[in-house]
Amino acid sequence: METANIAIIGAGVVGLAVAAKISEENEGVYVFEKNMRFGQETSSHNSGVIHSGIHYPTGSLKAELCVKGNHMTYEICEKYGIAYKRLGKLTVAIGEEEVEELEQLMRMGEGNGVEGLKFIEKNEVKKLEPNIEVEKALHSPSTGIVEPDELTNHFYEKARKNNANLTVETEVSDLRKAPDGYEINGISVGERFTITAKTVINCAGLWSDRIAAAIGLDVDKFGYRLHYCKGDYFRLVGKPLATMLVYPVPKGGGLGIHLTPDLAGVIRLGPNAYYVDKISYEVESSEKEYREDVTRYAPSIHDRQIQVDTAGVRPKLQGPKDGFKDFVIRHEADRELFGFINLIGIESPGLTAAPAIAEFVSDIYENEVKR
Ligand SMILES: Cc1cc2nc3c(=O)[nH]c(=O)nc-3n(C[C@H](O)[C@H](O)[C@H](O)COP(=O)(O)OP(=O)(O)OC[C@H]3O[C@@H](n4cnc5c(N)ncnc54)[C@H](O)[C@@H]3O)c2cc1C
Repeated sequence: METANIAIIGAGVVGLAVAAKISEENEGVYVFEKNMRFGQETSSHNSGVIHSGIHYPTGSLKAELCVKGNHMTYEICEKYGIAYKRLGKLTVAIGEEEVEELEQLMRMGEGNGVEGLKFIEKNEVKKLEPNIEVEKALHSPSTGIVEPDELTNHFYEKARKNNANLTVETEVSDLRKAPDGYEINGISVGERFTITAKTVINCAGLWSDRIAAAIGLDVDKFGYRLHYCKGDYFRLVGKPLATMLVYPVPKGGGLGIHLTPDLAGVIRLGPNAYYVDKISYEVESSEKEYREDVTRYAPSIHDRQIQVDTAGVRPKLQGPKDGFKDFVIRHEADRELFGFINLIGIESPGLTAAPAIAEFVSDIYENEVKR
């Protein structure tokens, strides 16, 4: 039977970033991906925003790894020629009653170490973004956009150059404890396979709770059950409505229907947030809902044409009635699973945080697992 030193389940941006980092110092790294190509799920169905870190409670992993990942992502883009733009973002208070929420965001952002935040008054906003009509805005200069596929590809290439074994069309179906680690079973290009690994890192995104269950963890008891929360996008036809990213103050499970220019300057509208039972990337929302929401802060959307774009599905630990839930990144040694590291609930800002998550996981491996 083949033996891996470290087996990573899932080749999205997170699994590949972890593979790229951990293979710098370690041999025998294997990555298993069920699809024909890597990065085809959440990692290629997102907004491509390099978030600043203003949205997450201070002290949370989301805040810490987003702020760190923001700096790291820009450095990677610069160094390796990955397409990005540091556009800056306006989070807008549409009426007076939202100004306090904006102030809370400012405090949270500063508490998280986000640099350069400042308020911009109504008239100034109008000068910067003539199509945006709001009471006040919070400007975060460190927000930007990146081409997610290029970033994912960067980590893939790095892992490959470090001699990691990257396999596609290879689905892990069950796992069990073995004398010196774990036995991993599945189907690879139509054939059953078995491999043992001393260490397993679960980076299976929307399926990560199933992988945790497969090794015998009670996902309900440990709060690992995922809820699928979908977000649809539309695309604005013609001249852009804004040059910066423009977000309303967050409400509910998502960040509100916002405007995100892509690298070509075309504006994407969305995503919204609604819970679903099945994973699909078809847009289910109505154009009307989007127009109404965006009209609140960009009234000129009224006579503009918008088109259906795509959708993404968030792997959320937070159910419809729950409050904030943090990323789970955990070595399960105290649950009799030495060498099993779970990454569960890696929703936004997982793209931004990916290089910082990789360092975090690598530190767990080097300090707690490596023998
Ligand atoms: C609508 C939306 C917008 C977002 N916008 C942003 C944003 O602007 N900025 C930001 O920072 N973040 C954003 N995110 C979050 C970000 O996209 C994710 O956090 C990130 O892509 C997660 O990457 P991942 O590698 O964990 O998951 P995935 O990309 O889903 O990768 C997991 C991989 O595991 C594979 N897999 C699963 N089960 C198995 C198995 N049994 N065997 C083998 N392989 C398996 C899957 O096929 C998949 O390729 C957004 C997310 C959504 C849904």
